[in-house]
Amino acid sequence: MSIISKDISKAVAILNTEELVAIPTETVYGLAGNIFSKKAIQLIFETKNRPFFNPLIVHIHSAEQLPEIVRYIPEKAKLLTDAFWPGPLTLVLPKQSTIPDIITAGKDTVAVRVPNHPMTLALLNRLDFPLAAPSANPFGSISPTTAKHVNDYFKDAIQMVLDGGPCHRGIESTIIGFKGDDPIIYRLGSTSIEAIEAIVGPIAIKNTVTEPNQSQKEHAPEAPGMLERHYAPSTVTVLVNDISEELKKHKNKRIGVLAFHSAIDHDSIAFKIIVSKRKDLLEAASKLYDALHQLDKQNLDLIIVERFPNFDLGKTINDRLQRATVQP
Ligand code: AMP
Ligand code: MG
Repeated sequence: MSIISKDISKAVAILNTEELVAIPTETVYGLAGNIFSKKAIQLIFETKNRPFFNPLIVHIHSAEQLPEIVRYIPEKAKLLTDAFWPGPLTLVLPKQSTIPDIITAGKDTVAVRVPNHPMTLALLNRLDFPLAAPSANPFGSISPTTAKHVNDYFKDAIQMVLDGGPCHRGIESTIIGFKGDDPIIYRLGSTSIEAIEAIVGPIAIKNTVTEPNQSQKEHAPEAPGMLERHYAPSTVTVLVNDISEELKKHKNKRIGVLAFHSAIDHDSIAFKIIVSKRKDLLEAASKLYDALHQLDKQNLDLIIVERFPNFDLGKTINDRLQRATVQP
């Protein structure tokens, strides 16, 4: 078992020896290492079994640190950092030459954000380097939103999980890139499109939940959170508009159900989770991955998940659910 601890000094010491620490953020737990240590970054890819074409997000302690990471900041990027940092918004911008290629998968751009978690901000302030921190889960599986999720995945493979409690937002950051000076959404996430458009006006989405075409499958995706099967339970999982209708199709199965707010009763339901009785999308998002983790542990034959209303964070939730339910 790795050590689950709240000791920030211990996390500093481990990271200074080029080893990894799982860190809490407001989105999901990250598997963090020194961006300038080849050893630490290789360990991140190995531990997660993450393909090297999948670049990492750099975590910094404040917007003032951004010029150390990127060489150009468009005006709308500045508006976005003013509005959302610290917070669940990642910007992809032209990288400084000091940022190693292994972080960016050889691209000339780098993804960067300031996470909004007091322990991780304190940690970043005590380190002499930024942290690369992809989600602390094996590649493609459900992202971790508690220290226990991380430990269940990695046990002894990592030395320490810095325990910052359950993640408040519970879904990855929204990723925004730029075409010239115009922002484009690369990945839907915990900052809603509506909130972003209130700051920068109408924004294009490059990569929503569409099936990748052959050329996208063969080439590194623009934003690898866009791989088709991702965030997935190991139990067969389906996404539907109407749970009751779907239940009629399955006889003699142990079925688990994940619903937004409405109670559903049926003999074949062995386990059910309602994520927000008060119909709050923020609450639903924060509980989504934990609900999938719980359902995945019940020895079910099938998980049926209800599609969410398609606005605000509902769009992000549907994006994740669609990827989670692509069959391998
Ligand atoms: P995660 O595993 O949730 O930390 O995901 C990190 C995500 O950041 C990747 O899946 C990419 O989608 C995105 N990303 C990182 N660097 C870049 C980059 N240079 N260009 C585009 N997307 C990037
Ligand atoms: Mg991930």
